[in-house]
Amino acid sequence: MFRPNVADQIHLIKHAAVNCYIIQDGPKVMLVDAGLPSMWKLVLAALRELGRSPRDISALVLTHGHFDHVGFAARLQQDLDVPVYVHPEDAYLAAHPYRYKHEKNRLLYPVRYPRSIPVLARMSLAGALNVKGVSDLRTLDAESAGTLPGRPELLHTPGHTQGHCALHFSERGTVLTGDSLVTLDPYTGASGPQIVSAAATADTHLALKSLDVLAGTGAETALPGHGLPYYGSIAAAVQEARQHGAT
Ligand SMILES: [Zn+2]
Ligand SMILES: [Zn+2]
Repeated sequence: MFRPNVADQIHLIKHAAVNCYIIQDGPKVMLVDAGLPSMWKLVLAALRELGRSPRDISALVLTHGHFDHVGFAARLQQDLDVPVYVHPEDAYLAAHPYRYKHEKNRLLYPVRYPRSIPVLARMSLAGALNVKGVSDLRTLDAESAGTLPGRPELLHTPGHTQGHCALHFSERGTVLTGDSLVTLDPYTGASGPQIVSAAATADTHLALKSLDVLAGTGAETALPGHGLPYYGSIAAAVQEARQHGAT
């Protein structure tokens, strides 16, 4: 599903409970996250609708290296020569997107949280089990982020993964939170602002602590890696996520 302008010149592509975003800045286009492999054709259709071509994509930023955010990254790099940016602490993960750390055994979650079963099944159908890693990455840091379309402020928000980053577009009052704060957890099926369950989070204590970084932006829109956009004060979203706690 394509939802244009979920924030100022920021467009959402949503499929199988996974989100990725197109950021426009004049004639330039940037993608944030590469979803699942089958989402590439949805991105192409969205670009057409926006009057842009794949050749206009000047960068792909990965909020982190999990398979459900790396989906079509290798293809974008190989076919279109698009530079792919990731925080150095997630570079290994982006190259091996299934070798991630998580606190709890994810195989037990569908038993405990049956609402997650249809979500995980849709992710598999969208190619979640066949993601190619991506290497030859550019370093995502404060300096490189400032040169990207929309000139986002980089927020290092470790916990979900060590190199996880959110992007703050201050002029647009918007934070792309990736999986540091989501409004749907694929592993439990629960909705509302929360951190991702320990089935896919390396360090839940640190993930809860990183919520302060998001709250500090004072943004009015939060666009997560999973679930619907959150409209309202990010401090309120963070408070809800804290109340939800770790699962
Ligand atoms: Zn993740
Ligand atoms: Zn994710």
